[in-house]
Amino acid sequence: MSEGVYGEQATGRVTHGLLRLSTAMRSQAWEWAEGAGLTPTQGEILVLLMQRKGPMRLGEIARETALTAATTSDAVSTLEGKGLVEKRRAIDDGRALAVRLTARGRTAAKKALQWPDFLSKAVGTLREDEQAAFYRSLLKTIRQLEAAQQIPAHRMCLSCSHFEVSKNPKKVPHHCALLQIDMADTDLRLDCSVYEEGDLGQQKKVWKVFAQIA
Ligand code: SF4
Repeated sequence: MSEGVYGEQATGRVTHGLLRLSTAMRSQAWEWAEGAGLTPTQGEILVLLMQRKGPMRLGEIARETALTAATTSDAVSTLEGKGLVEKRRAIDDGRALAVRLTARGRTAAKKALQWPDFLSKAVGTLREDEQAAFYRSLLKTIRQLEAAQQIPAHRMCLSCSHFEVSKNPKKVPHHCALLQIDMADTDLRLDCSVYEEGDLGQQKKVWKVFAQIA
C-alpha cells in the first residue's frame, strides 16, 4: 500500500496502523480457526457465550457480535451440529430460544481465547505508562464509535451508573461504587457482568471528564 494513502496527518497514520493490526488479527484468527475446524465468527460466539456465563438469545448474540440475524443463525446451527452449543427454550419466555455452551463448547471457547496471545505479547513489550495511554485512547475511540452507533454498546465503566470518574486518575483513582474498588485507567472494564447503564446525564458528565484526561 502506498505511503500516506490514508493521509499524512496523525489521524491518517493512526488509521493506517489500526488497519494493519486488523489485518494481522484477521490472519491470526483464521489460522487458529482453521486448526480448530471452525470459523473466526464461530470462535467469537463461543467466547461470547463463555464471557456471559449463561444462555443468550440469538438476537442478543447478533447484537453483541454485530452480525446479521441470518449469519448468527447459520453460525449457531453449525456450532450446534458440532455439539459445541445447544438451544433450549428461554426460561423467561417459552417461545424464544436461548443458546448455551456444552461441556465441549466450553473447552473449545477456552482454546479460542488464546488466539490473540500474539497481540498480548506485543502489547506486553510496551512500558506500563504506554499501555495505560494506549488503553485510554482505545476506550475513547470505542466510546466515539458507540456514540455513532458503529459498534455495539459495551457494558463498560464509562457508561455505567456505578462509575465515579476522576479528573486526575494518576493522583486520585476512579471508583466503582458498587464493587467498592478504586480503579486506574487500565482497570476500567469493557464487559462487566454487574454493569448497569447510567442515565444520559451521568454518561455525558463522565465522558466530559474522561475525554480531557491525557
Ligand atoms: S459495576 Fe462494573 S462497569 Fe460498573 S463501574 Fe463497577 S466495574 Fe465498572
